Amino acid sequence: MNNINFALKRPRQSERLTKYEAIASGESSPRYMVTKARHCDFDPDDDIQSLWELHDELLLSDDPEGIPGGGSDLLQLKARIATKIFDECILCERRCKVNRNAGEIGKCGVGESRISSEFIHMGEEPEIIPSYTVFFSGCTFRCVYCQNYDISTNPGGGKKLNPEEMARMIEERDSKLGHRAKRIADAEISLPFARPFWAKNVNWVGGDPTSNLPFILSTLTFCRSGLPQVWNSNMYLTRESMRLLDGVIDIYLTDFKYGNDGCARRLSGVENYFDTVSRNHLLASEQCDVLVRHLVLPNHIECCTFPILEWVAENLPDAVINVMDQYRPEHRASEFDEIMRRPTQAEIASALKRAEELNLSLTG
Ligand code: SF4
Repeated sequence: MNNINFALKRPRQSERLTKYEAIASGESSPRYMVTKARHCDFDPDDDIQSLWELHDELLLSDDPEGIPGGGSDLLQLKARIATKIFDECILCERRCKVNRNAGEIGKCGVGESRISSEFIHMGEEPEIIPSYTVFFSGCTFRCVYCQNYDISTNPGGGKKLNPEEMARMIEERDSKLGHRAKRIADAEISLPFARPFWAKNVNWVGGDPTSNLPFILSTLTFCRSGLPQVWNSNMYLTRESMRLLDGVIDIYLTDFKYGNDGCARRLSGVENYFDTVSRNHLLASEQCDVLVRHLVLPNHIECCTFPILEWVAENLPDAVINVMDQYRPEHRASEFDEIMRRPTQAEIASALKRAEELNLSLTG
């Protein structure tokens, strides 16, 4: 963050994210575990329409146990549907319809899921840390100023893991499950400044996690960790992907970038941005808690920052928002004059002032 000393009164602090906090504290189970407890039977070779019909029936059912005697569960069904979507990939709104099961590559460039890095992240919002953050290689966006361009533009980078290995690595970070994490968590009581080994959640990010949805769902079918699941994303998913995440994700950590389609097209190379991303924020808020991030871009206060803050105030009264001031010109930003500097103190102050006027709930 910039060391900007704001004379402004900070907008009200978060007293929200209560559903997520209940899971993080161990009071409630993560939603993927609840979904796993919903039994069903399905033939993996059934057509995708039949699988979707069973999925929706189970998701909407009042019976937490699903279909008695079923040998599979709703999470396995979700993972199967996600893999079938790979036949004509529509995981994000680019809707490339390439056959990724046959090795075809769409606009994100992602083939098999590859992990660029995974570690305990202490630089996220206070509500989230310590966060076991899994960075996938590749991205559905092409942001000219990407702050993680080494990851997002290199979908072939990083290491390949299988879902069972990933599940074991997650469980290692759960102090209630991983023996190593438990030993270290105990030792940390006397080492308060040590970087923790244990996590409060699992944070799926990239690049963007959307292109890797089958891998993520499949990983969770092997998991029994009580850690809540964080979807840390540009939110350019299709309705279908949002349906698959329903019953799996415990908090959406969203990156709401643009207040209009023109800026999105110019700076991230995507179409129909605002309708897609605003729709997905509404769908997310129907599922669980939402923490909205907005990175303030220089010269984009009127066209992007204000419309986003106003939309959040009107449509997501329970959301928490992080107005981020750490933009710096990176990657190809030098090709675009207006973003070739950091935001000014006045720009950040005006963003925070607008958040205050709108009575938004700020993180921190
Ligand atoms: S995830 Fe999006 S960009 Fe990638 S292949 Fe699928 S539809 Fe295309």
